[in-house]
Amino acid sequence: MIRLNENYLNLKDSYLFYNIAQKTKKYLEENPGKKLYRMGIGDVSLPLADAVISALHKAVDDQAVKESFHGYMPECGAPSLRETIALYYHRRDVYLSPEEVFVSSGASDELGDILDLFSRESTALIMEPAYPAYVDANIMAGRKIVHLPSGEENGFLPMPTDDLEADLVYLCSPNNPTGAVFSREQLKVWVDWANARGAVILFDAAYEAFIEENLPHSIFEIDGARTCAIEICSLSKTAGFTGTRLGYTVIPKDLERDGMNVNAMWVRNRTTKTNGVSYIIQKGGAAVFTENGQEQIKRNIGIYKKNAKVLTEVLDELGIPYFGGKNAPYIWMKCPNGMGSWEFFDLLLKEIQVVGTPGEGFGACGEGYFRFSTFGDPEDTKEAARRIYELLK
Ligand code: PLP
Repeated sequence: MIRLNENYLNLKDSYLFYNIAQKTKKYLEENPGKKLYRMGIGDVSLPLADAVISALHKAVDDQAVKESFHGYMPECGAPSLRETIALYYHRRDVYLSPEEVFVSSGASDELGDILDLFSRESTALIMEPAYPAYVDANIMAGRKIVHLPSGEENGFLPMPTDDLEADLVYLCSPNNPTGAVFSREQLKVWVDWANARGAVILFDAAYEAFIEENLPHSIFEIDGARTCAIEICSLSKTAGFTGTRLGYTVIPKDLERDGMNVNAMWVRNRTTKTNGVSYIIQKGGAAVFTENGQEQIKRNIGIYKKNAKVLTEVLDELGIPYFGGKNAPYIWMKCPNGMGSWEFFDLLLKEIQVVGTPGEGFGACGEGYFRFSTFGDPEDTKEAARRIYELLK
C-alpha cells in the first residue's frame, strides 16, 4: 500500500481564522442584524487599477485572434515582464539581470515550492510572530524548525547571535503581523551571518510597497546579499492581485551552495513543474509597472495608509503601545490592561462589534498583542476607530 507523507500528521489545525469565524458566527446568531466592523482580514478591498483592467481586457482580445494568440508562456515568465521587474529594482540601485527574475503565481505558491531546492535535513529558522504558512510548509517537508521569538525589547526585529545555527532563514520585512521593518544595518548583520555559515535567506518582500521611510525594500539593497538570499514578492497587496495572482521571485546567479547554482536549479524546477503563468495575467501584471499603473496603485495604497492613520491616531490618543501602521498595512497593538489576545478579541466583538486578529495565532510570543489590518473600508475603519476610542478611553 502506498505510504503517505506522515509529516502532515505533525501539522496543527490552523485554528486562528477558524476560531475567529466561529466566534463571529455565534455572535451574529445571538445578535441578529448587528453590523460587524472587520479589521482582521489580510485581503485587500479596493479593485484593480484602471491600467491593469485595460491591459487585462486587451490581453483577452489578443487571445481571440490567431495573429496575437499566445499558447504556452515561457516557464520562468515572459521575457519582457522579467525585464520590466528587473528595471523596477534599478530605482533602488539594485541591478538584476532579467534571468534572475522569475514570474510566479504569487508569494504563497513560491514560498512552498521553493523548499524543493533544499535538503530536508536543512533546518529552517522562523522568527515569530510569523505568517503561519512558513511554519506549516516546513512541517509538511519534515524539516526541523528553529523558532526565534521576538518582542517589544527588540522592536519585533530579532537579530542573530553567534551561536544561532540554521540553514534556511525566513525574513519578512515589512512584517506580517507586526508591521516591523528591518533597517539596512540590521539586514547587513543577517546577510553577513548567512554568508559566514552558508545559510540562505528567504526574504519575503510582500509588503515592500507600503514602506514610506528610508528603509530597505529589498534584501538586494544590502552588500553581500547576492551570495546568500532569495527574494519573494507579490502584487497581491501592492496592486490588489490577491484574487488575480501574480508574483515574482529573485534568485541571483551568484547564489551557490554545494557546488550547485540555485538560479539554474530553479530554472530546472520551473521548466519541469510549471507551464508558466497565464499570458493574460502577466499582461495585467506588466501594467502595474507602467507610469499610470504606478500612480494608480499608489493612490490605492494611500487609501489603506489613511486607514492606518485613523487607527494609529486613536491608539496614540489612548496611549496604547503599538508597532507598524506606518511602513506596513498592519497595526500590532498591545492589548490594554494586560489582557490576553483572545480575551481582547471577545471584548471588542461583544462591546463594539469590531473584529481583529489575536496575536497569539501568529506564535506564542504574539500572546498579549492584537493585529488590525488596514485593508478595510475607510468608513468602517473610521467607525471602528471611534468605537475603540469610546471603549478604551
Ligand atoms: N507573504 C506574506 C507575509 C503574506 O502576508 C502573504 C499574504 O497575506 C503572502 C506572502 C501571500 O501572498 P500571495 O497572495 O502572493 O500568495
